[in-house]
Amino acid sequence: MYYTENTILFLDGKWVKAKDASLTLYNQSLHYGNAVFEGIRSYDTEDGTLIFKSKEHYDRLHFSSEKMEIALPYSSEELTTISYELLDRNGLKDAYLRPLVYSDENMSLMPMDQSHVLLCAWEWGRYLGDSLLRLMTSSFQRPNPKSCFVEAKVTGHYTNSILATSEAKKKGFDEALLLDMNGHVAEGPGANFFYEKDEVLYTAPLGNILPGITRQTIFELAAEMGYEIREQFFTPKDVHQADGAFFTGTAAEVAGIQSLDGKKFNLDWEDTMGCELSRAYNNRVQKKEYKNFELV
Ligand code: PMP
Repeated sequence: MYYTENTILFLDGKWVKAKDASLTLYNQSLHYGNAVFEGIRSYDTEDGTLIFKSKEHYDRLHFSSEKMEIALPYSSEELTTISYELLDRNGLKDAYLRPLVYSDENMSLMPMDQSHVLLCAWEWGRYLGDSLLRLMTSSFQRPNPKSCFVEAKVTGHYTNSILATSEAKKKGFDEALLLDMNGHVAEGPGANFFYEKDEVLYTAPLGNILPGITRQTIFELAAEMGYEIREQFFTPKDVHQADGAFFTGTAAEVAGIQSLDGKKFNLDWEDTMGCELSRAYNNRVQKKEYKNFELV
């Protein structure tokens, strides 16, 4: 699914076939979850293949690697150049890119100077699909920000995400919604969360969530569209009375939500601000916004 016989990836400055790449089993990232990564999308636009917000993603990768003391010896600009070459070498246009910076052989609990930098890419449909999602409030909380750097994208944090998603699926839901350590809604296992009530959008403030790049794009689009967004704490009870809700994330894009804990939202998705934002997001990533104006 992720690679074929011919897939090429970037590993420590070399272009190698995915099927030939290997990893030491004494790798600290594998044993202790100490690696940092990104999820990035490229789009096939009328202006050619474009990686959406590449600098923002690679700046966040640098932030994550600094927090975890994992060396990342390439600048964001270099990583962007490598990313375009990766797409080109694999003949990919609409793709998902996965940079991963992982440790070397190390069974101690100390970070080390050496690291490995992997970049790979594959075609990936919208992560949460195209149907409206039925969420449940997870019994798992997001990690306490005093236990780790929640704003860094660290592989180990995703054990929490895996637990939450699998709990939700086992109970017949599509996805989980996780609370923070104080019982406020934080985010999804792999996406930020917004809800709409009386024509105002609400989302959790930074502090207990990953500062999503899609979340930031929604702020930009909402400002342009005259939509108000309030960053404030709220509970599942508030969400149960919502008019609409959606997840945002690079892989998920803008994913409409139908219900939380079986409580359906008041408006049809097509009538929500989220639906408008989802259209605006698609146009922005595909650079379609200004193509409808004809010059006479
Ligand atoms: N929260 C979590 C936990 C995530 O894994 C993601 C996906 N990276 C997001 C939010 C959304 O982040 P972004 O919009 O930058 O992809």
